[in-house]
Amino acid sequence: METTTNSNVGWLHPTRAEEVEMISDRWFPSHVTEISTQECYELLASRPVGRIAFLVDGDPLVLPVNYVVDGHDILFRTSPRTELGRSMTRGRVAFEVDDFDEFNQSGWSVLFQGSVGYDDSDAVEPGDRPEPWAEGVRNLVVRIRPRLVTGRRLLSA
Ligand SMILES: Cc1cc2nc3c(=O)[nH]c(=O)nc-3n(C[C@H](O)[C@H](O)[C@H](O)COP(=O)(O)OP(=O)(O)OC[C@H]3O[C@@H](n4cnc5c(N)ncnc54)[C@H](O)[C@@H]3O)c2cc1C
Repeated sequence: METTTNSNVGWLHPTRAEEVEMISDRWFPSHVTEISTQECYELLASRPVGRIAFLVDGDPLVLPVNYVVDGHDILFRTSPRTELGRSMTRGRVAFEVDDFDEFNQSGWSVLFQGSVGYDDSDAVEPGDRPEPWAEGVRNLVVRIRPRLVTGRRLLSA
């Protein structure tokens, strides 16, 4: 826990901060648990749509895409005419997939952060290629290579 001895910021005083944490623990028990890397991949493979986060001229954009998992990589198809397609030449992205139960207020989310680029390797068999639900010619295959994989599950109280 980060603490400070500066008496001008009373709410950060060690004793007070510890007190607040204890009260929070008591009244709002944490039901958030970490998901292992292997299970992150299992959950990734269980859904058809994920959200890719990327920057366009410094502005963040998040868009849904249909994807498949190829080993540890994520593949999706898009059009070179979209902002999405134009932004995928190289660089860094985050890819998120989640699911939740509104009634039980529970759910999970998995996050894959890494590099991105066009893929022309034909490494994936035709039947295993990503099939976009969105209409139009989306012949650009994009490969995400995750460097960091994390996940959290929120259990119902
Ligand atoms: C369930 C689902 C699955 C999809 N799967 C794929 C896929 O696999 N491959 C694929 O290429 N596309 C997919 N799409 C569409 C994709 O999310 C983008 O909408 C699309 O690539 C943008 O194309 P565009 O030419 O309309 O917009 P662009 O000209 O590229 O974008 C212009 C602007 O429009 C807005 N915009 C664009 N798309 C969205 C959006 N989805 N939601 C909110 N605002 C938006 C943004 O402000 C963006 O800056 C999917 C969409 C949905 C809902």
